[in-house]
Parts: sequence; structure tokens; C-alpha cells
Amino acid sequence: MALLATGGTIASSGQSRAQLQDYQVDTKIETMLANVPLINDLAEFECEQICNVESHQLNDVVLVPLAKSVQDLCDRSDIDAVVITHGTDTLEETAYFLHLVIQTEKPIVLVGAMRPATAMSADGPLNLFHATAVAIDPQSRGQGVMVVMNDRIASARHVTKGHANGVEAFVATEFGYLGLVSGTAVRFQNKLTTRHTHESEFARLVNLDTLPTVDIIYDHQGAGAHHFSASIQAGARGIVLAATGQGSLSPQGEAGVKLAREQGLSVVRASRVWQGWVRPNVKDSSYGLVAAQTLNPAKARVLLRLALSKTEDSGNLQQYFDCY
Ligand code: ASP
Repeated sequence: MALLATGGTIASSGQSRAQLQDYQVDTKIETMLANVPLINDLAEFECEQICNVESHQLNDVVLVPLAKSVQDLCDRSDIDAVVITHGTDTLEETAYFLHLVIQTEKPIVLVGAMRPATAMSADGPLNLFHATAVAIDPQSRGQGVMVVMNDRIASARHVTKGHANGVEAFVATEFGYLGLVSGTAVRFQNKLTTRHTHESEFARLVNLDTLPTVDIIYDHQGAGAHHFSASIQAGARGIVLAATGQGSLSPQGEAGVKLAREQGLSVVRASRVWQGWVRPNVKDSSYGLVAAQTLNPAKARVLLRLALSKTEDSGNLQQYFDCY
């Protein structure tokens, strides 16, 4: 099995067992493995330290080579699964990106921790053990990219960070977890209906290195249109609007969206509410907007960047948002 490490709290240490912020990402993957002795009974690991940073520092410079490494590993007959340790802040973005671009039926599991390795009741060791147990389980084949934290298995499609501090930070929204893990026991309960990995049209994208800039703009009472102008000026090819409620736009949000469309940018309407559905509506047809369906703004940005490599037509973009 391949174990790739990128950093995050799971790879961090503090000065005392009570230090739960301002800790340092400084632990290498070999040390993390050594802290979970029983894990070697589950699998033989081929380890690679991709980087050792907090996940809010990540961008395409790391993500694109990471995706290429994961694809190469999945293509090897001697690798059955890939586990990736990752900071939790942007874990859902990396997970969904890999879910769309890796062509494989082999399990890919992302895992992190909310407490540094030096903390009282650190959650990293058991999370890593559980991630491995899920990765080697035959039921995990074909499930796409999964996130294993706090005894739960979530699909990259639905998982989101729902709490800034607690070990129960990751939630699978109202669509539910794929299943549960307890020690070496794995139980799947749900199956994903949207497209991913082995059936994704974005798999093995040759132009992954040149994904376009897509910005997220957060709508609110009294919003201004200046963020839209800034995005247009910066050369963005798309904007995801984290709109209010079920995708309603403030007056300036609407003015900004019109401006962006006039300048040829693609615009996706998502919601700043972390659960629910933004359905195509009348304004979408008149302005040529795309409704994010049940994707949150961060994931809508991931999909829009990939979809723009195929089309700029809002109707065709909508079809991607309908089935991924
Ligand atoms: N700051 C951390 C990160 O790298 C948070 C975490 O890993 O829990 O995202």
C-alpha cells in the first residue's frame, strides 16, 4: 500500500500535551507510522513525503504533482490502495479534486487529525489506523476517494469540515456517510450516485498543469460588485458565488454576475449555507449561470476549474454539475 504524507495537524507537535493551537508541522511520515505499531499488521507501506505543510498553504504546485503521483501508484499492479495524510482545513478540496481526476477503482483514502500528535488524546494514530483498515478492505474498491476520520467513512463528494476544533469535525452532510470503521472492522452502508474516479471524464487530464483561475465570492447583505471587477481584472475564467440561502443574489451580487458574464467568465451559483440544494432557476437561463446543485462553493470551484477544460458553454457546464 502507498502512504503519502502532505502535513497538517496529524503531522504536528506542540510544546506541551495541552497545546492545541500554534503547534508546528514537523513530523515525518516514518515517525507517524512508528507511533501506530499495530498498523504494520495491516499492510506493508511504501511511504512518500510529498511535502510537510498546513493544508491552507496548498495550491496547484503541490496538488497537480500529487495527483500525478497518485495516478502512477494506482496504475502499478503491486499497489492496492493509497492513503494520504493531509491537513484538515482544505482536505475536502484535495479529496474532491482527486475524486474527479484519478482513474482507478483502487481505494484512495485521505486522513487527518484535529489534535497534534503530542496532544492528550491525539486522534491521529487511530484515524491513520482506520484509514488503512478502510483502504485494504475489499468493499472499498470502486467507492472513489474517501475521507476517514473519527470512526466514519465519508465520500469526497459529500464530506465537509463542519467544526473548526472538535475531533468530530468532518461531516457527510445530509447525504450521509458511506460507512463506519471500528478497529479493523469496516461496514459500508451507502453508495454514491454521482460520477467519479473510474467513470470520470476528467481523469488523466493532460492539461492539468494549466487549470484556469476560478475565484469564490461570498455574497452578503450590503455586498459590493468590486470583488467581481477584481476577479475579472486578475484574469479569472470563472467565479463561484457563495450566494445566500438557496442561491439568491444580493443586488450587487447580481450586478457583479452580469458584469462577469459580459466579460466572458463562467459563473456558478452555490450557497454559503453548508447543506441544501441550489437548483437551476430563471435567472440562470437569462444570464447563463450554472447552479451548483449540492456542491459547496469550495468543491464547485474544483469542478468548475476542471469542467472549463472541456467547455465554456453554460448549458454543458450545468450538465457536469448535474452528474458530478
Ligand atoms: N491547520 C491544519 C491544516 O493543515 C488543521 C488540521 O490539519 O487540522 O489544515
